[in-house]
Amino acid sequence: MLKGKAAIVTGSTSGIGLGVARALAAAGADIMLNGFGDRAEIERTRQDLAQGFGVRVLYSDADMSDGAQVAGMVQTCAEGLGGVHVLVNNAGIQHTAAVDDFPDERWDSVIAINLSAVFHGIKAALPHMKAAGWGRIVNIASAHGLVASVNKSAYVAAKHGVIGLTKVVALETAETGVTCNAICPGWVLTPLVQKQIDALAAREGIAPDEAKVRLLSEKQPSKQFTTPEQLGELAVFLCGPAATNIRGASITVDGGWTAQ
Ligand code: NAD
Repeated sequence: MLKGKAAIVTGSTSGIGLGVARALAAAGADIMLNGFGDRAEIERTRQDLAQGFGVRVLYSDADMSDGAQVAGMVQTCAEGLGGVHVLVNNAGIQHTAAVDDFPDERWDSVIAINLSAVFHGIKAALPHMKAAGWGRIVNIASAHGLVASVNKSAYVAAKHGVIGLTKVVALETAETGVTCNAICPGWVLTPLVQKQIDALAAREGIAPDEAKVRLLSEKQPSKQFTTPEQLGELAVFLCGPAATNIRGASITVDGGWTAQ
């Protein structure tokens, strides 16, 4: 379905981004991977995707906290893969602290990576999509783009911002072949969430497995984690013909979290 299309997935060396990159590659898209991590492991992932799905796969080490590097990655994709047809803004970080204890530099990093990078990526990619007459922007927001939790001021502010930005871009592209939507996952068991489980286990003096159940029970009525594979399939659906008129939507995949 996506043969001949080039897709950038930010933060795709781990977790949800890797699940989305894999699903897009399985649908035939050439992929620009991005994110941090062990270089040898990233190269293995790059080769696995390329050989496993018969697509071209490049890797960019651009730091999403730097707008110029975000724009540079988009340009590298256009030159290396012949266009920028799909942009999945996924890279994200978390920091938890009460607002009156929240370190200024952590606020700045969370806003830069989780929100400003989405703006810089869209700004750089849109001209390529408009020129091609087709494009798909998928922003990985969060249940925290719709509702709040304590101790997550920067994250919740950034994710609410991503949902607002998604709507504006959808309106500005409404009469074009470009769509822009957000996916709002609840808990997904990735390194980002594992850190929160470990912190909960340490704080409460409980086993990691019990911390997992406690974390899910607090917010997610299904008491099941969403998987990166499920989110990858949803991203592929949003790139498909059935989703042509889905514009500015925030699609929850949260086990009922925001239905409460
Ligand atoms: P993760 O920690 O497994 O992966 C984050 C990815 O972003 C990694 O590839 C990392 O290298 C990359 N990254 C971090 N900082 C970067 C930077 N400055 N420049 C480039 N890449 C950078 O996390 P995840 O859980 O897979 O999260 C992915 C996205 O999904 C995030 O935006 C997160 O907010 C969102 N999300 C996650 C959950 C969840 O439960 N895990 C729920 C809702 C939303």
